[in-house]
Amino acid sequence: MTAIVQKYGGSSLASVEKIKSVAKRVINEKEKGNDVVVVVSAMGKTTDYLVNLSKEISHNTNKRDMDVLLSTGEQISIALLSMAINDLGYDAISFTGFQAGIKTDGVHTKNKIVDIEIEKIKEYLKEGKIVVVAGFQGINNKGDITTLGRGGSDTTAVAIAAKLGCECNIYTDVDGIYSVDPRVYFRAKKLKNISYQEMIAMSSLGAGVMETRAVEIGYKYNVPIYVASSSEYITGTYIKEYEKEMEEQVIKGIAIDDNIYMITIGKVLLNSNNIARIIERLGEENVNIDMISQSSPQNGYVNLSFTVCKDDLNSVCKVIDEIKLEIEEMIIDIKSNLSKVSVVGLGMMNQSDMIGKMFRVLSNNNIEFKQFTTSEISVSYTLDDKDKEVAVAALAREFNL
Ligand code: ADP
Ligand code: ASP
Ligand code: MG
Repeated sequence: MTAIVQKYGGSSLASVEKIKSVAKRVINEKEKGNDVVVVVSAMGKTTDYLVNLSKEISHNTNKRDMDVLLSTGEQISIALLSMAINDLGYDAISFTGFQAGIKTDGVHTKNKIVDIEIEKIKEYLKEGKIVVVAGFQGINNKGDITTLGRGGSDTTAVAIAAKLGCECNIYTDVDGIYSVDPRVYFRAKKLKNISYQEMIAMSSLGAGVMETRAVEIGYKYNVPIYVASSSEYITGTYIKEYEKEMEEQVIKGIAIDDNIYMITIGKVLLNSNNIARIIERLGEENVNIDMISQSSPQNGYVNLSFTVCKDDLNSVCKVIDEIKLEIEEMIIDIKSNLSKVSVVGLGMMNQSDMIGKMFRVLSNNNIEFKQFTTSEISVSYTLDDKDKEVAVAALAREFNL
């Protein structure tokens, strides 16, 4: 029998009706003669609700406790989906991450899967059961419950598929991967295929349709990932190995990341120890620094600017408060309401005129950006939220996305 992993996201499980409808889709897959593992997220906006609930208790929550709290969302989904499948006369069994043997390592709320003891899942598949696994969670070597970071159910699904050596189908509220988030640019085109490398860039730059690590695991273990609608049976998008035919399109898509904050630490005495100290402390607090730049020295002082996402803002403020005690003259400026818009395409590697075209498009549309950065296959701009839609539409038109 061929195994298949299906994953359903929160919006696809947001109500009892939706869970019942997912149960039918799972059974449909089983009826095709496949061994089915289903990975589920928490229902609807449950995880956001739990995060907000914790904030009502404290703004300084212990991350171990956060993991205990956040993992409960997925536990509800596995039980309900398993009940719905059993109710339709099929044999399902539900597993939390711990029960499914998902081993993790790292810091609480940002754990990584290091191994899956897959034999247990295999045994139940052999018995003909549909195995329902909680996404987004695992257990560390201390025996503590851990979570994988927001959107982490995708990672659970692809990691299980890698272990089983099978395909992973990600079912969601959009019917495939588009050149641009269709909620931001409704003219965006659905892609038939996208390479792992391009999808990794798109996801890491803000295209939340797939979690970045999930695609990285897919790339590493060559797991075909298919992204499609959880409500309709229409063709979706394959994320797969780069093929020659994909080369035709130089630019594949635009990724958008909202809720970007730009922190400027001004009047830092130019002294490599000061800069090292700031960056080091941010690293120790697990802050993901994105774009970073340093102004040229003036009277022996420099300004250091970097961007972070909303989730890391509290940790950044904590570090700044500490450093201020050491470097007293420092001036801090935090800019909010910023977005990052990134143009992505493997073909950019060989076409140096592309970057010039992007700058021209933004200039012709009077869009100013605060910072920009490039990689081999992407160019990113930090700009005011209010300019985001115009910038995206202009770039999409230019590159026929
Ligand atoms: P799930 O709850 O199923 O995990 P997500 O909300 O994580 O779903 O991902 C689906 C959403 O990703 C879509 O509703 C869509 O707005 C957004 N998205 C962002 N970029 C893209 C893109 N390039 N193509 C398709 N959807 C995208
Ligand atoms: N429930 C978690 C979240 O909302 C994990 C996931 O949906 O993939 O981030
Ligand atoms: Mg998701």
